[in-house]
Amino acid sequence: MTSTSIPTIVKKQKEFFHTGETRDVAFRKHHLHRLREWIRSHEAKISHALKEDLNKSTKEAYTTEIGITLKEIHTALNHVKQWSRPQRVPTSLIHFGAKSWIQPEPYGSALIIGPWNYPFQLLVAPLIAAIAAGNCAVIKPSELAPHTSSLIREMVEELFEATYIKVIEGDAETSTELLAQPFDTIFFTGSVPVGKIVMEAAAKHLTPVTLELGGKSPVIVDNDADISLAAKRIAWGKTINAGQTCIAPDYLLVHRDVEEPLIKGIQAAIRENFGEHPLRHPDYPHIINRRHFDRLSHLLENGEILSGGVMDPKLPAIEPTLIGEVSWDDPIMNDEIFGPLLPVIPFDNLDEMIEKVRSKPKPLALYYFTSSKEKEKKILESLPFGGGCINDTVMHFASPYLPFGGVGPSGLGNYHGKHGFDAFSHHKGILKQTTRFDMPFRYPKSKVGLSII
Ligand code: NAD
Repeated sequence: MTSTSIPTIVKKQKEFFHTGETRDVAFRKHHLHRLREWIRSHEAKISHALKEDLNKSTKEAYTTEIGITLKEIHTALNHVKQWSRPQRVPTSLIHFGAKSWIQPEPYGSALIIGPWNYPFQLLVAPLIAAIAAGNCAVIKPSELAPHTSSLIREMVEELFEATYIKVIEGDAETSTELLAQPFDTIFFTGSVPVGKIVMEAAAKHLTPVTLELGGKSPVIVDNDADISLAAKRIAWGKTINAGQTCIAPDYLLVHRDVEEPLIKGIQAAIRENFGEHPLRHPDYPHIINRRHFDRLSHLLENGEILSGGVMDPKLPAIEPTLIGEVSWDDPIMNDEIFGPLLPVIPFDNLDEMIEKVRSKPKPLALYYFTSSKEKEKKILESLPFGGGCINDTVMHFASPYLPFGGVGPSGLGNYHGKHGFDAFSHHKGILKQTTRFDMPFRYPKSKVGLSII
């Protein structure tokens, strides 16, 4: 891909957008239907690409990638007509005789950049939102999941004209070239450092951005929680995709009273899911590459391994590993882990624990296990985070009704369902004034002064 062809692609998409074709809701629905048909009829191929890239099982590929995109299409098809309608709003007395409404309109040409960890879903779900909102799009998959990247290109080339939707494969250099273009909106999913680069590039054109980033998402288990359920749900949330999930529980804060039974419960759940030797389990996901494997293995140099810890650089893979004797200053507590390592830190006092978590950057997700309504309220009101669950992990992501996104360093904006439509839409506020009469108050000669702003 040469640098001259990228500006041409963007220019052609803008020209196509201005024909007005994508504004027609029937056009959007037609393409969403075709996308759904393609995904349904290529489930095995998508699963295979995900197996090649990350050793995901067919079940995990369906539940965390394919199924979520199908649900997003289903929601968009059912509601896009209503979402796209101008929405009447009240008109204030000062505008007597006028009508007011909010008119959603597509931004135009969207740039969508995706990561490698859920390489299908995290590119296709924003694409669904972009299509539903009536945009053209250039999408850039992650170069670190090459099988999925080329399958997505194949899919898009089969389904869409390049002037409407186009895949451009490549690495950071390609992204940099894309980011230099005057897109009308940018939707980026990836790491915090690259998120900053994206925002800086967007600032040059004052392009609106949605940033779906990462961070350290705590899971907190209090002494009044259902411990065996908490153990199962934490083990699941931490081991899907071998912990390479932006909203995986990053570290565990557990009330000292229940530390021992919780750890035993998590260990038992891991054994139940992957047997005594997870690395030999055919469906245990791999670490994406050697660089990430090495990064994760260095994190095991501090603390005490409570269970797991077996590594195989050839796969590469690392067993689900619980780590005790961790201090807040250890390297594992600095950056997002993004792997199957779970540091465990006990606490005695909820307020002190809240204080500690609040001193850290606002996380993408937070999970709290308790049976107390008051303590639940306290956590929800005292800790800022993107979204999360009470008595579960990760599952909030799967709801098309909840906005998904971070806050502060974990992200900007959100999507899923209607929130995705809104992320790719500008909401025009329109006042249609009457021509039947003209109120005199605003004019300089009027003796009555009314505030108009
Ligand atoms: P990344 O930031 O390294 O890469 C993401 C995308 O940006 C890729 O397509 C890559 O090619 C591109 N890129 C890389 N360097 C770039 C640069 N210098 N300039 C422009 N583009 C560049 O992220 P990753 O390693 O693919 O994914 C892991 C990160 O993504 C984790 O931090 C994780 O928490 C986060 N994540 C967030 C979400 C979410 O929904 N909030 C979902 C998945 C992953």
